[in-house]
Amino acid sequence: MTTYVGRFAPTPSGPLHAGSLTAAVISWLDARSQDGRWHLRIDDIDRPRAIAGASDAILRTLDCFGLFWDGPIVRQSQREQAYEAAARQLQSDGHAFNCGCSRKDVATAGQPGWEGPVYPGTCRNGLPPGRKARALRLRAVQRHWTVVDRCLGPLGFDLHWLGGDFVIRRADGFFAYQLATVVDDIDLGVTDVVRGIDLLGSVPRQMQLYQSLGRSAPRYLHHPVVIAGNRLKLAKSSGAIPVHCRDAGACLARVLTAIGVPGIDAGFAAGGARAIGELLEHARSHWHSHRLPTGPIPEAQLRHGD
Ligand SMILES: [Zn+2]
Repeated sequence: MTTYVGRFAPTPSGPLHAGSLTAAVISWLDARSQDGRWHLRIDDIDRPRAIAGASDAILRTLDCFGLFWDGPIVRQSQREQAYEAAARQLQSDGHAFNCGCSRKDVATAGQPGWEGPVYPGTCRNGLPPGRKARALRLRAVQRHWTVVDRCLGPLGFDLHWLGGDFVIRRADGFFAYQLATVVDDIDLGVTDVVRGIDLLGSVPRQMQLYQSLGRSAPRYLHHPVVIAGNRLKLAKSSGAIPVHCRDAGACLARVLTAIGVPGIDAGFAAGGARAIGELLEHARSHWHSHRLPTGPIPEAQLRHGD
């Protein structure tokens, strides 16, 4: 029986680049090396950022890199009813409350936290007179959280300085990433969340959501991200170059070497589609998350000719 369920959840804001491909390969390998299921979810909840055709381009790239997924593709844009139901449950259980504060109100009244102002609790016990409900916030009931990350080891978080009570439905009516991700992961039965270290700050918020929904949190593995020449995380928004199917074998070989898969030599990658299957099978049987690099991966290491 499969006890591992993983997923890859790209945002369709552009085609896959070396960084998002590396994330896909790591999450695929971690799932497949444990005979687990691997789902694909398109994180298009934030519709203004979604670019037409990007999700098809992502699917084509995963396909030519041999990263096949299980079951139907989940699209967050089609999951609104599930988020609505979860938000209603949280509100009726007293875990979520209406907030009438604008961004400016919070910035004025809140102490500075690590990611911006900490919510000052203005509407925690009901909307102040004259205020209309704008957003829906989750109560940060538990302040200190500990998680043993499979890559980083034991980590402690302070949800208060990460913002305190946080928004789960925004003033514009869209559900926040944190709520959508947790509801989707629960519904897919995800046991292992494998993603870039840049999302580490989401952990305590998501653990609070699991607790408030009466569910147990998954295991976490946060892996190093690929950085550009400017030392910043490679991103679609800053014009990262898309990966191409035509040199998929060579590109995959470089990615596997960079993430600590031993025994990949240049000859491995020369044979097209057959080589991709062999590379992935070799990587699957040699995968160990403890071999991941401890620091960020320079993009140059993944580029042709380097
Ligand atoms: Zn408020």
